[in-house]
Amino acid sequence: MLLSNMRGHLCDMDALMAVLNRHGVPLIEDCAHTMGASWNGRKSGSFGIAGCFSTQTYKHMNSGEGGFLTSNDPEFMARAIMLSGSYMLYDRHGAGPSPDVFKDIRLDTPNMSGRMDNLRAAILLPQLATLETNIDRWNDRHDLIANRLRAVAGVYVPNRPPQERYVGSSFQFLMPDASAETLQQVVAGAKALGVELKWFGADSPVGFTSNHQSWRYVTPQDLPKTDAILAGLLDMRIPLTLSLEDCAHVADIIVHAVGQALQKGAA
Ligand SMILES: *Cc1c(COP(=O)(O)O)cnc(C)c1O
Repeated sequence: MLLSNMRGHLCDMDALMAVLNRHGVPLIEDCAHTMGASWNGRKSGSFGIAGCFSTQTYKHMNSGEGGFLTSNDPEFMARAIMLSGSYMLYDRHGAGPSPDVFKDIRLDTPNMSGRMDNLRAAILLPQLATLETNIDRWNDRHDLIANRLRAVAGVYVPNRPPQERYVGSSFQFLMPDASAETLQQVVAGAKALGVELKWFGADSPVGFTSNHQSWRYVTPQDLPKTDAILAGLLDMRIPLTLSLEDCAHVADIIVHAVGQALQKGAA
């Protein structure tokens, strides 16, 4: 199973692992949005064979482009090192498995040349030291906005289980009963006051936000339950450059835009 942990959220990893273990299904975690998150004290990316992390511009650590894998599986890591483009210099990898693990893998695995260079690694290492502090800062900002929105009629903000150390680098809320027109008005109303919300129910992809209906590269699927959720789902990034006062202002604008749109809908 390739699990994409999205938007700083983790599912009930205990429940998921119980199902996967019962059926002998191996897990790879895409942690591009959950670097630093944990479930019951266990870090996202450490539940399956491997965790995959992106460090491109919009992720929790930023090296422009780049990313890395984590794993405790020596053979998996040996294959990844060969694939990444070590050639036969794999024993220079400072954290790689011992050379005997490469005995066959070095001959069986092609070179895909996706190396992380020293320059990028040097940019990332100091960011690792501030990751936990940054998660606290994101969560302060996230919770401030979430708590204001939670009190608004017609808005649903998902509750986070106590086992989840989430990363509030973005904020999601639902307007489960609102029409498409009302949601468009929320987006337009917030945008007019300088706050850009993303809506997952739009017909065509916008910015980073698309849904399965516009993915022409996969076989179309009928997903009515997913569609019902996406139809009312709004999303926003929370940059750390925003102060808590900025976030309070942003929350006020969203509350205002929601109120205006609902009023129009009712009229
Ligand atoms: C950004 C992202 C990726 C891919 O990362 P790149 O470095 O852009 O290849 C994969 N999965 C998720 C969920 C992401 O957000």
